[in-house]
This record gives sequence, C-alpha cells and structure tokens, in this order.
Amino acid sequence: MHDVTERVYEHVLKTDPDQKEFQQAVYTFLQSIDKIIDELPEVAYHKILDRMVEPERTIMFRVPWIDDEGKLQINRGYRVEMSSAIGPYKGGLRLHPSVNLSIMKFLAFEQVFKNSLTGLPMGGGKGGSDFNPKGKSDAEVMRFCQSFMTELYRHIGPDTDVPAGDIGVGGREIGFMFGQYKRITNKFVGVLTGKGMDFGGSNIRPEATGYGLVYLSDAILRGEKMSLEGKTCLVSGSGNVAQFTVEKLNELGAKVVTLSDSSGMIYDESGITPEKLAYVKNLKNVKRGRIKEYAEKYNGVEYIARNPEEPNPLWNIKADYAFPCATQNEILKADAENLVKNGIRLVGEGANMPCSVEAEGILMGNNVLLAPAKAANAGGVAVSGLEMAQNSARMTWTREKVDQELRSIMNNIYKNISEAAERYSTKNNFVDGANIAGFMKVSRAMLAEGYV
Ligand code: NDP
Repeated sequence: MHDVTERVYEHVLKTDPDQKEFQQAVYTFLQSIDKIIDELPEVAYHKILDRMVEPERTIMFRVPWIDDEGKLQINRGYRVEMSSAIGPYKGGLRLHPSVNLSIMKFLAFEQVFKNSLTGLPMGGGKGGSDFNPKGKSDAEVMRFCQSFMTELYRHIGPDTDVPAGDIGVGGREIGFMFGQYKRITNKFVGVLTGKGMDFGGSNIRPEATGYGLVYLSDAILRGEKMSLEGKTCLVSGSGNVAQFTVEKLNELGAKVVTLSDSSGMIYDESGITPEKLAYVKNLKNVKRGRIKEYAEKYNGVEYIARNPEEPNPLWNIKADYAFPCATQNEILKADAENLVKNGIRLVGEGANMPCSVEAEGILMGNNVLLAPAKAANAGGVAVSGLEMAQNSARMTWTREKVDQELRSIMNNIYKNISEAAERYSTKNNFVDGANIAGFMKVSRAMLAEGYV
C-alpha cells in the first residue's frame, strides 16, 4: 500500500479495532485509491481520505417500544451521517438483529461513493436498528417505527438527511415512519423515500435496485459481446432486491434457478417463472413466510437448509451468472472457488459488500466480470433521488419516464466506471473503476468546501 493510504487504514484499525465490516469496506476502497494517489498530491495534503473515513456525525439512541403483551422492549437506533460533500445525507435504514455500529458505518461509507456515481446531488448516510421485524405483528412494527422516528425526526429533513429502506424496511415501515414524522413536525415533505404511491412515492422505486442491477450487468455483458438471453442465473435472497432482479432477468430472457433466505435456499431447475415469482412476492411481502414454502408448493424443487459452517450450496450450482442479493459477506473464499469451478462469467452485486476480500480476489483473478455493489445496486438510491425531485416539484412521473431515467443512469454509471478502470487500473476492473470514479467527485467537492 502507498504511505498515505496505509496511514489512513492503520488509523481506522487503531481507532475502530472492533469494526470489521467498516475496516473491510475502507480497505477495498483504499486498494483502488492507491492507484491514483501519486497523481493527486492535494488529496494527501488536505487529508481528504482521513476525513472520508470519519463520519461527519454519528447518532445512537434508545428505542423503547411496547410489545403485544404490554411488555417494554428496548432496541438501539443508529444514523451515521457520513458525508454531505455533494448533497444532503441519503441512504437506507436497516432493521435486523445483526445491526451494529460497524455495519452502519460500512454501509454509510459505501453509500457516499455509490451516490456520487449516480450523478445526482446526494451525500451518504445509513441508519437502522437491531430490532428484528421477523415474527412481529403489524402493531408491534408500527410502535417500534413510531418510537424510532420520535428520536430520528430531529436529525433529518428534506434538505438535511433523507433516509429510505434497506433490509427489513419496506413500504410498511416507511409508511409508519413517515406518518410519525408528519405528526411530530406538522410537515408533509419528502423526508423519506420509498413512500407508497398514494403519499408521495415514486413509480419504480420498489423495482429500482433489482432492475438497476440487471441494467448495469446487461451493459457490462454487452461490452463483452455477451448477453442475458437464454442464460442460467443464480440469485440469493428473496426480499426486495432479489425479487425485482428475478423479474428483470426473466424479462430479458434469462432463467433464474435459485432464491434463499436466512434459513435456506431453493433450487428450481425449471426456472422461477413470472407466475412463481408472483407467489414469492406474496409469500415474502404479504404473508411474511419462508422460502422453504416454495419447495412445498412446486414439484421438482430442492430445498437445502442453511448451514453457516459449510460453503453456501447456492454458489455451487452450474450457471452462467450470479447475483448475490441478500447481505454482506455471503460469498466467501470457498464460495468464490465454487463459482469459478462452475464456470460463472459475471457476478452482479445486488447486496452491499456481498463478497469478502478473498472472494473478490478469486473472482477477479479468474476473469469473472465483477459488477461491484457501489455501481451495481445504485439504481435504488438513484430512483430515491428522483423521488426527492418529484416531491420538491409536487409531481409524479410515469413508470415509463422513471424507468427510462433509471436505465440511462445505469448506462452512465457503466460508462464512467469502465472509463475510470481503463484509465487508472485495468480494463474491466470495475471495482477500481467504481471506487475511483465515485471518489473523484466527492474529493473535488471536499477540496472546494474547505476544512469541514
Ligand atoms: P430485504 O429485507 O427485502 O431482503 C433481504 C433478504 O436477504 C431476505 O431474503 C433475507 O432473509 C436475506 N438475508 C438477510 N440477512 C441475511 C443473512 N444474514 N443471511 C442470509 N440471508 C439473509 O432486503 P433488501 O432486498 O432490501 O436488501 C438486500 C441487500 O441489498 C442488502 O445488502 C441491502 O443493503 C442491499 N440494497 C438494498 C437496496 C434497496 O433498495 N432495498 C438498495 C441497495 C442495496 P430473511 O427473510 O430470512 O431475513
């Protein structure tokens, strides 16, 4: 590593020794910045990287709520406001028992450069809680969301910080939080994105991350004279991103044979058709059921329960392309080796940081095209940015218009990251391309704004 990047990384290791996910995100990023640091002496002089790894503000708070038995429950809430260099803080809220400060900071850090890549004026942030929505009644989720917003509302605003959804936060949770914000502040403003269509939401926002992932992957494949048509794909997860990834892959002529949740995976060799996908959407979004039920409903489907001690069997199925859409570090070294062994040609990261550092090295070392999350899943936040624009203008754009904008943003991201890869690293090193292209704009803004 270069002296400058090494010093920044050592500082992170020393200041945040327990924040493994944050360290991982910073490490991967600095590896790319290493390649341009000599060309940018002002970055070192003005300590741009040192500032980038320190959130502008970190908010942690108590979230008390009453369960259906009348008992008091307490969770911890977070909002990491990482960078407002290029716009108001923007990034999702995650509700999952694994949430901690390290995960919040890694997500917020990634978000800064992802948002920069969209070309829209959005800074980066992330938040959430260790609250587990699984198995909770609607009334419990509502009481939790109201309590969460009762603290969060004072830190956010349409020109300050605009949260959205992430794992465990979909339309239901955003609705409850928006209702509480409005009630406390007496303001109907675009303070959250991912809202329902009846109260300021944008067309295509639920679809945007999955669709965007497929648009970017398609652009990368076309750049290599390859295509999705007739190809077999692996998708992990079965939530928002996974569902709309499958939908768009089907539309573009590919066949998806897997889905999963935290309990296990299904393998449907005949393909997850639009009809079967409709069943999954109802199962996961309405009934809040488990993916295992898919194997009980359809013939010829294999269900394999998850064993965290073993490599994930989902990544050991012969296919052409793979789309991890569940969570961080879901592709480890052995999984990457299996993907390579099975002839996977492209991995499109729907989830944030789904590949470990080792896994990423193995994939790229074996010429697998890797579409990194910062670029590949930026479609969600891009359409969130479009939702903010529609809210400010008190307008609603048609599905066609938003989809067209999304497609053009993803094509533009492809152009920017591939050009940056060729110029500063190697052709098709989209990890370097995304890190460098995302970094350039944020660092220029920071230089212009002085020491803040
Ligand atoms: P959802 O909550 O809708 O779905 C998450 C899916 O991943 C579920 O199937 C869930 O299973 C599974 N999952 C979660 N944690 C684990 C785990 N530890 N091990 C195995 N499976 C797990 O979330 P999203 O689809 O919104 O998010 C998925 C990923 O995409 C995340 O990394 C998120 O940060 C990223 N992302 C999401 C965006 C969005 O717009 N929603 C935007 C950009 C990125 P189970 O049901 O059992 O919990």
